[in-house]
Amino acid sequence: MSLEIIPVGGYSEIGRNCTILKVDDEAVVLDMGLHMDNYISYQEILENTPNKRMSVKELRRVGAIPNLKEVKDLIPKVKGIFATHAHLDHIGAIPFLASKFNCDIHASKFTIEVLRTLAKENKNFKNKLVAHKLNSTFKLSKKIKIEFINMTHSTPHTTMIVVHTPYGSVCYANDFKLDKDPVLGNKPDLKIFKRLGRKGVKALIIDSLYAKKDEKTPSESKVKEMIKNLIFENDFSGKALIITTFASHIARLKTIVEAGRSLKREVVFIGRSFDKYVTAAKDAGIIDLTQGATLIKYSSQVRRFLKKMTDPSKYLLIVTGHQGEARSILPRMVYKELFDFQEGDNVIFSCSVIPVPTNIENREKLDYELKRKKVKIFTDIHVSGHASRKDHEQLIDLLRPEIIIPSHAEKETLQEIEKLAISMGYDKDKVLIMGNYERRKL
Ligand SMILES: [Zn+2]
Repeated sequence: MSLEIIPVGGYSEIGRNCTILKVDDEAVVLDMGLHMDNYISYQEILENTPNKRMSVKELRRVGAIPNLKEVKDLIPKVKGIFATHAHLDHIGAIPFLASKFNCDIHASKFTIEVLRTLAKENKNFKNKLVAHKLNSTFKLSKKIKIEFINMTHSTPHTTMIVVHTPYGSVCYANDFKLDKDPVLGNKPDLKIFKRLGRKGVKALIIDSLYAKKDEKTPSESKVKEMIKNLIFENDFSGKALIITTFASHIARLKTIVEAGRSLKREVVFIGRSFDKYVTAAKDAGIIDLTQGATLIKYSSQVRRFLKKMTDPSKYLLIVTGHQGEARSILPRMVYKELFDFQEGDNVIFSCSVIPVPTNIENREKLDYELKRKKVKIFTDIHVSGHASRKDHEQLIDLLRPEIIIPSHAEKETLQEIEKLAISMGYDKDKVLIMGNYERRKL
């Protein structure tokens, strides 16, 4: 009889986050995400291969989803799938794999609304979706209680999930940052973390993506200031103003919509993913960004709208394509000439380049083309949603877990958390650097 951790994805790579916790003869799944690079490459192959359809077998073969074959014995034991937040590297594999589990999917309201839209695209995904309030507790079985704790990240209703078991509590903080001044939603309630710490935390599974950054991740309110300054320092009048950012980042979109209003420009969201996330935010009762704004999602509508637009200086266009992804709106505006760029038009990148070779190359190409058209570009109007080392230190200090398990990075970065923990007085054997499918009793 015991508590066991089984990393399924996200411990040997960045992406397809998935962890199983086994409590005696029961188990829970924490997140079930996509490996975004592998998924996008596979999608591109499908588009160029007539009559080929997406299959779970192929998704597994190309490494786009967690490989459940390695944990086949655990599937019948799973009593619930719990998702921390709405990013696809945490929930994107659920529609493909959930039908293998005879259980419900649990998450916060916004995450559930996003899952509902994903369910429309996959008819095999029929598991019941259960929405939970932030900072609420749910009794899953006699032995397992689940707590959804409000966390800050770059999408609303992000949670740290705590699995309470007879063998101790496991905190799953994947992804997070500790933002004391978020633009949307409440800041994390540190008293809750302290309370958990006092009661005793068996293990902490921690988002380690930026463990190499020796700083505190700045607050989302910094971006609000950056955008305010940009508007103050630049004269955009008479010119097009286009902003590209993450569709799931509702707080960022709120800041951008407010900027559009202050400039007295009509706000237009262009791109299918905006429709998905902006609608989910409205349905979850978080914010209605569609009031006074237009949402354009279908290709034919986009073409028509951009063609008919006689005076671009009246609009603030919020578009997809910040990483230069070929099929999204901004690259299509540039390469497919959906939009007639004029000298002095403005493009703001409210993002950073996600450092993988494809994105770096795509963005360099896009920046070059925009500059060639004499468009002014503003880059890195962004702060990350992921913890840096000072956030890691603060969370470890509040929870004082017995065991620390770094996740969401490659081995070299996971080891940075080990170094940090040792500097905080932990013994080396209390930090578990695990690879996918390694099973450990806690
Ligand atoms: Zn995330």
